Order: sequence, then C-alpha cells, then structure tokens
Amino acid sequence: MSPRILVVGAGPAGLTAAISLRLQGLPVTVIDKAAGPHTHPKAVVLWPRALEIFERIGVADELVSAGHQLTGQHYHSNGTRIATMTFRRLRHTKYRYALAIPQHATERVLRKRFAELDGSIRTHTELTALRIDADVVTTTLTDLGAGTEQEECYDWVIGADGVHSAVRTAAGIEFTGQTYEQTFLLSDGPCATDLATDSAHYFMTDTGVLVMVPLPDKQWRAFISAPRAIPEGEPLVDTVARVVSQRSPVPVRFLDGHVAGRFRIHRKAAERVWQDRLFLVGDAAHAHSPAGAQGINTGVEDASSLAWRLGGVCRGSASAADSGRAFAQWADERHQVVENVLRDTDLQTRLWGVRGLRRRLRDAVLYGAERTSLLDRVVIPRQTQIVQRYKPGPGQSRPKTIGVLRSHARLPNVEIPTGAAGGTYLHDFLSLTEPVSIEFDPAGTPGRHTDVQRSDAQESGLDVVSLTGPALRSALGISRRVTCVVRPDGIVAAVAPNPAPSKRENNA
Ligand SMILES: Cc1cc2nc3c(=O)[nH]c(=O)nc-3n(C[C@H](O)[C@H](O)[C@H](O)COP(=O)(O)OP(=O)(O)OC[C@H]3O[C@@H](n4cnc5c(N)ncnc54)[C@H](O)[C@@H]3O)c2cc1C
Repeated sequence: MSPRILVVGAGPAGLTAAISLRLQGLPVTVIDKAAGPHTHPKAVVLWPRALEIFERIGVADELVSAGHQLTGQHYHSNGTRIATMTFRRLRHTKYRYALAIPQHATERVLRKRFAELDGSIRTHTELTALRIDADVVTTTLTDLGAGTEQEECYDWVIGADGVHSAVRTAAGIEFTGQTYEQTFLLSDGPCATDLATDSAHYFMTDTGVLVMVPLPDKQWRAFISAPRAIPEGEPLVDTVARVVSQRSPVPVRFLDGHVAGRFRIHRKAAERVWQDRLFLVGDAAHAHSPAGAQGINTGVEDASSLAWRLGGVCRGSASAADSGRAFAQWADERHQVVENVLRDTDLQTRLWGVRGLRRRLRDAVLYGAERTSLLDRVVIPRQTQIVQRYKPGPGQSRPKTIGVLRSHARLPNVEIPTGAAGGTYLHDFLSLTEPVSIEFDPAGTPGRHTDVQRSDAQESGLDVVSLTGPALRSALGISRRVTCVVRPDGIVAAVAPNPAPSKRENNA
C-alpha cells in the first residue's frame, strides 16, 4: 500500500515538502485552512541556499524571472552610511545575489509546480486534533466550508502550519522562548525615491529602525519599528509613510497602492521537531525576527532536508533502525541550524535599537568589518546560508576537509568545464532521492575539459559520477583523486582520498 502522508499548511515550507515528495513519486495530501492563497505582505527575500533548493524542485528559474536581484545591503546610522555588504565575494553558487520577491509570488510558483505534479490542495480544511499511535496518526480535519469534521488516518504527518501550529499543540510539543516587546509595521507598494534599487537599505536611528527593500515591478517593502505614539485613528499606511520620511535621509514618498501590516516578533523554537510519525517544519518549528530574512529560507530547508529522508523510508529503502537514525539526524541538524538562526537574528534585532556608547561601538565595528571585508567574507556567506556546516552526531566521523570539499557541510556548487559550450555545476549531479558518490580525478584525462561518466558502484549501491581532468585541481583545490558522497540535500556525507569512503560513512 502507498504511504499516506499529510502535509498541514500550504505555505512555503509545506509546499516545498509536498513538491519534494511528489518528485519522488509519493502521494501527498496537503490541507490548508485558508480559502485560497494569501496576499498580505510577509517574507520578501530568498537567499542563494533556498534558491538552490528551489532549483532542485524545478521552480528557481520562474522565481528568478519573477523576482528582483539585490547585490548589496547598505547600513546607515543616524543618517550616515557606515557599512555596505555585497555578494562580490560569494563563491561556489549560481546565485550571487539575494532575490527580492513577495512571499505570495513565491507561493504562487510553488502551487503551480505542485499542480503540475498532479498535487492538489484541500483548502478551507483545518487540522483540529490528532493522535499519534505506534503505526498511525489519526487526524481530525474540519471542512470549514461545510462545517463538517472527519477522522483521517495517515502514516506520516508534516506540520507546516505556521507559528500557531495546531499540529505542534495537538502533539503536546512546547514552543518556548520570548516575544519581543517591540511591535513592527510594514507596507508594500510603489514609492517615489532616489534610493538605489539594487540594494536593501537599513536606517538605524535613535527613534527606531527603517528597512527599505526594492521589490519587482518598482515596488518597495518599507519595514519599521513602530513609533512610541501613533495618533489615534491614523491609517497604518499613513503611519508607516510618516515614519519612513522621518527616518530616511533620502526622500521617500508613498504612492497609491500600498498594503500595510502590523506584527509582533518572537524568538521561539519547538522543543522537538520529530516525534514518532510527526515532523514540524518552518514557522511551526521556529519563529524569529525578520532581521536577516531567515524565516522562509530556513523553513524551505527544513522541508527539503526532511523530504529525501522521509521519501527513502516510504519507499522502503531504509530499515526501521535506519529510519530512526535518519530522522534523529535530521532533527539534530535542524536544531543546530535553528540555534544559529535564533542567535543571529536576535543579535541583529538588538543591534538595530542600541543607543549612546553602544551605538558608537556598533557603528565602529560595522565600519571596521566593511573595511576589512569581513562582512562580505564572513557575514554574507552565513546570512545566505551558503556556509552550512553540521557538527557530526553520535557515531559519525569527524569533519574532514580536502580542498574545498568538507564532510558534514554543503557541497560547494563549483562550475566544472565539461564542454566547449561551458560547464556543469556540481549540484547538477545530485539525486533527489539517494546519496551520490562523486569521484574527482585531477590527474586523469589531459585537456581543458572535464570528462563525466556515470555508473553504479556494486558494493555501495550508489550512483557514481566520475569527473576527470586537470581543471578539477584549481576548481576544487585538490591534487589527487578524491571521492565524496553527497546527500540529496547537497550535504557531503563523507569525503576521502581514494579508495572510496566506507559503507558506514556513506550512511552518515
Ligand atoms: C510581516 C512579516 C514579514 C516577514 N519577512 C520575512 C523576510 O523578509 N524573510 C524571511 O525569510 N521571512 C520573513 N517572514 C517570515 C516568513 O513569512 C515565515 O517564516 C514563513 O511564512 C513561514 O512559512 P511556513 O510555510 O512555515 O508557514 P506559513 O507561511 O505561516 O504557512 C502556514 C500555512 O498553514 C496554514 N494553517 C495554519 N494552521 C492550520 C491548520 N490548523 N490546518 C490547516 N492549515 C493551517 C495557514 O493558512 C498557512 O497557509 C516574515 C513574516 C511576516 C509575518
């Protein structure tokens, strides 16, 4: 019998999970309590790592052509520019920019892709209860249109139902942390301004922060910490427009067509993201400040890194013990990522609001970090989630580095010259379902191009890609034959000088 998988929530995290599972040929039921796609302003930035995931599920090109590319972020303190971060030094990715695109546009593209894969979303359907037993999850789903309720059984449930997750609550999983005191306001729409449209602009002032992000179609996202006093009855858009013109040193005039919102932000995480047959991804698992724009990006990665493991278990390619190990490893890795995201976004949020001596110190550090290119070399790779390294779990080998290849870390998406017409990126060799063994031999075939051969390794059962040619030397920083095993989520499970990594490492 086919596995029964329920995804609760058709936001970016739920849709990424659902598409990734469909691409593995698995049936998926997706429900959402909303009557249709939402249109209010939410996340607006996709980082390179999320774009890499979106490329693997076949939506990156459409997103890139619908979005607006940003090449930098300018930081101002009380009207003076103190630092600029750029993507100039970002290496080993196709996406050397941030993509500004409203979340509802991203969701539209994901919904379309899911539909192409014969997926459909049961809208107006709310999960109101669930019970987890040893071999089944019994859910109560309410049809909000008809007002009826029914029990449905699933083998696996993915809770992608946002920060107020009913799945998390029904499973009795605590969501711990704090809610910031500060309220934030935002508004999306057209503006008349001379602010550069190739970058995001942060204006930190003694009265609060303003972030201006250029969007596609000459629109802008204006994001502010709410002022102390808001005149009673003032429309939200007018409040944002007024504060923007106070905090921006460059005139910004709101034109007609703005949509505004108000929100509180949290620093919270679920105490666990995996419980028997149930998983939490996206905001259901973690909620943090939009500083650094990590929310949608982290949720998409939660989903993608779960989907290949769950797919393997559903297809029966993992034993019960292996599946337990796979899910425990996923939960441990996500915990590491979420801890970092919570710490970084909290720090950035606090830095927005410092005053007096601390403000001068913050400005001096930012200024120095730009001058020494620390922002571009260290902060940008971390913010874009391109530098991704996991601490090995129990029973896993210690991280090993050969050239730019490192185990328990993202495979750098290096371009290899494979023909007269150009090159192939390493991520193009990844599988959606199984780890792949990639063998690099810089000493093999002479010439400018790299030969590519594919085969099956009998002993490990992995697909093998062999790359041979001297260009590998400079591209990867290796001087001898090297084999690495790369998981479907682009993480190097093992790297070793030939002979190939052992079977145990392949399962890492
Ligand atoms: C104002 C604002 C600005 C933001 N800016 C950024 C940014 O710049 N960058 C960034 O990365 N992130 C940003 N975020 C965060 C980002 O929007 C979230 O991280 C993202 O939406 C999380 O996606 P998700 O799929 O986990 O959940 P959601 O997008 O919240 O989707 C959850 C879905 O589940 C459905 N649902 C909920 N409960 C149930 C139920 N019981 N049964 C069935 N369906 C249910 C909902 O209808 C919804 O469609 C912002 C958020 C807000 C609010």
